Amino acid sequence: MQERKDHLSRTLKSLRKDRGWSLDAAAAATGVSKAMLGQIERGESSPTTAVLWKLATGFRVSVSSLMEPLPEISSDTLIRDADNLRQLPGDSGMAVAPLFPFEPRFGFDYMELTFLPGYERRSEPHEPGVIEHITVISGQMEILTENLWRLLKAGQSIRFRGDKPHGYRNKGSEKAVTLSVIHYPHRS
Ligand code: MN
Repeated sequence: MQERKDHLSRTLKSLRKDRGWSLDAAAAATGVSKAMLGQIERGESSPTTAVLWKLATGFRVSVSSLMEPLPEISSDTLIRDADNLRQLPGDSGMAVAPLFPFEPRFGFDYMELTFLPGYERRSEPHEPGVIEHITVISGQMEILTENLWRLLKAGQSIRFRGDKPHGYRNKGSEKAVTLSVIHYPHRS
């Protein structure tokens, strides 16, 4: 947990430095308050998944890169265990397990996302060209895309544009476990 906080704090500081952004500029780009950004950089706050996503979108980095360091060189064969990776930050109602974190050579994030009952989040559009794919493994959930909430049951999959307004919600009584591939076409 502390390790993750340290990683996020270091990553955020270096992203901001790379871009030459003040805290004000970073707050404007991400929609995360200056006070919260300062707390995260000082390692005083563990942000919710919603905040992590805002940071990733504002800085145009993958959400997984904020959760753990990317390996310098990863082997082609890689075995990952969601039970050891799942994080449920703060009171966010959504757990994320970065199964195969973003690597420039592949261009996607592959994650297990678990939505607890009652969870609802509207997402700001990601950068142009981003496409999301979600497969429901258990439970059911709804995805908002093109102004319609689409119900997905276990076994069903959806592909939708991540660069348009979209949302995720679980109005059911059990958690929804999903696999998600987010493709970032223009990122290195
Ligand atoms: Mn999204």
